[in-house]
Amino acid sequence: MILKNGTIVTMNPDFEVLEGDIRIDGDSIQNLGKLNPDPGEDVIDLEGKVVLPGLIQAHVHLCQTIFRNMAEDRPLLPWLQEKIWPLEAGLTEDTTRISAELAIAELLKGGTTSVLTMETVRNTEVVLDAVRRSGIRAVVGKALMDRENRGHPNGLKESINDAITDIEELLATWSGSDNGRIGICLAPRFALSVSPEFFECIVEFSRQHNLIIHTHASESKDETKVVRQETGMGNIEYFHKLGLLGEKLCVAHCIWVSDREIELLADSSSHVLHCPTANLKLGSGIAPIIEMLEKGVSGAIGADGAPCNNNLDVFAEMKLAGLLQKVRKGADALPARDILAMATISGAKALGQEDRIGSIEIGKKADLTILDLDKPHSMPGNDDLYSRIVYSARPDNVDSVWIGGKLVVNGGRLLTLDEQDIINRAKHATK
Ligand SMILES: [Zn+2]
Repeated sequence: MILKNGTIVTMNPDFEVLEGDIRIDGDSIQNLGKLNPDPGEDVIDLEGKVVLPGLIQAHVHLCQTIFRNMAEDRPLLPWLQEKIWPLEAGLTEDTTRISAELAIAELLKGGTTSVLTMETVRNTEVVLDAVRRSGIRAVVGKALMDRENRGHPNGLKESINDAITDIEELLATWSGSDNGRIGICLAPRFALSVSPEFFECIVEFSRQHNLIIHTHASESKDETKVVRQETGMGNIEYFHKLGLLGEKLCVAHCIWVSDREIELLADSSSHVLHCPTANLKLGSGIAPIIEMLEKGVSGAIGADGAPCNNNLDVFAEMKLAGLLQKVRKGADALPARDILAMATISGAKALGQEDRIGSIEIGKKADLTILDLDKPHSMPGNDDLYSRIVYSARPDNVDSVWIGGKLVVNGGRLLTLDEQDIINRAKHATK
């Protein structure tokens, strides 16, 4: 199979942009350049289209999508205590399935091919089954919570033993399945939901099984204050003391971090997951992304959950990431290419899969997001293709999406799930 005549934004180490062709063999990119089709080989013409590495969102909550527009106008802790935890506690297998499918439909149609997720405490296998059927690439984490939060019962607390038993079952059934498309991570919710003993157990389990630890930290001022009251230190310093920091740590937000904590994140090769819309929607603040990237922190991007955003749109996240740093540091801050890197190669690094995804290179998986930018809102703009993608593209520019050599969106239409059926079931479930 050859995809011909595209403008290929490789995001390879030299940031090459090629005019040419991509040969897909099985689930991988077999060749790049000016290619002649073999006799009988399928050819798809991409004349005038832009080919990106499949876009990566390194922080989402698929199971929360059915709570979209149901948890408005609250800061983080009341948002969790009054809305999100009771709603998650009320999820059934059926509503979890609808939520995950709704999320994945939006993600795939919007050009996101890979996600790192944090789900709820129960029904993780239902989410994984939706991932399997949909074709999306995902590293999925069951939320880990062995504490209630300062007298707020959350209906989600479980014992360390029960949680570990559940994770072992998920690992045995799902880890590495579908040729590595599906993975499992450890997802301690945040410092206030997890005891120090459980964190220590999570660190040990991560080392034994080579698993990503996917968590939240230093999102709101109030949360960071409570962590300091309980531990006597900043959230990242606390994680450092617990042994959590390292290349396996993916930590969302990191808004209220000290210079010392930024250094700790950089020195340990931890990954920060930037969620700009959610950070504004909950009134949390603006993460010092420029400072973190300058210190060498690896920064990826994600929409977080539908109830704090209220979309799962990677283009909106990229644009806002740029705008927020420009208002902080000036109009030349955070070039568009660096932002696209957060949603591609840096996202791949967060998922521990930079040898497989995140750029268009021979031997990598054929995960591709193909854009048609010839629309009124994204015309013209050949001077700076990166800015055109980051600041003018939207999900409706997504023409087709390939994941592991499989076409999952074609002509803007989702091929792997029944979109109308999902919408009908979501409507019925939330009546
Ligand atoms: Zn989150």
